[in-house]
Amino acid sequence: MGQRVLVLNASYEPLQLISVRRAVILLLQEKAELIEAAEAQLRACAFSLDIPLVIRLVRYIRIPRRLKLPCSRRGVFARDRETCQYCGSQPGRAYLTMDHVVPRSQGGGTSWENVVTACRDCNHRKGGRTPDQANMILLSTPRQPQYLAFALLGELERHDVWRKYTFG
Ligand SMILES: [Zn+2]
Repeated sequence: MGQRVLVLNASYEPLQLISVRRAVILLLQEKAELIEAAEAQLRACAFSLDIPLVIRLVRYIRIPRRLKLPCSRRGVFARDRETCQYCGSQPGRAYLTMDHVVPRSQGGGTSWENVVTACRDCNHRKGGRTPDQANMILLSTPRQPQYLAFALLGELERHDVWRKYTFG
């Protein structure tokens, strides 16, 4: 079963998605408490258990600053507040693009530090050049967001029950 369970830190900050099986183990070991469950139940020989949708860790887990978060389109747009990082316009998500600051053709990778939100016009104007080469200025220096939930954004929006945990 491909169903996933959202794990919240003790502080209610979303941490990650895990399998139902792993979530049940955490619950049985009393390392986590059940926050939201599905209507259906898991049945075993001696007991039945609500299928968890959201669990919360009993003990607070410190997030290492250097933890690498996957860089996603949704996450980059959210980090940049859906604002073009060159001209400051907010044309709406459908008109935004992900721009590689150092273009891939010049060896730039897809990372939080090298990808910014850009409107179509600015992306087109910049083309396959760096900001310097295109004589364009970035409004801010792109960094990996500190808030872990950014990395989960796309996933959290898939499930009604999870959505409300997106931004505390
Ligand atoms: Zn722009």
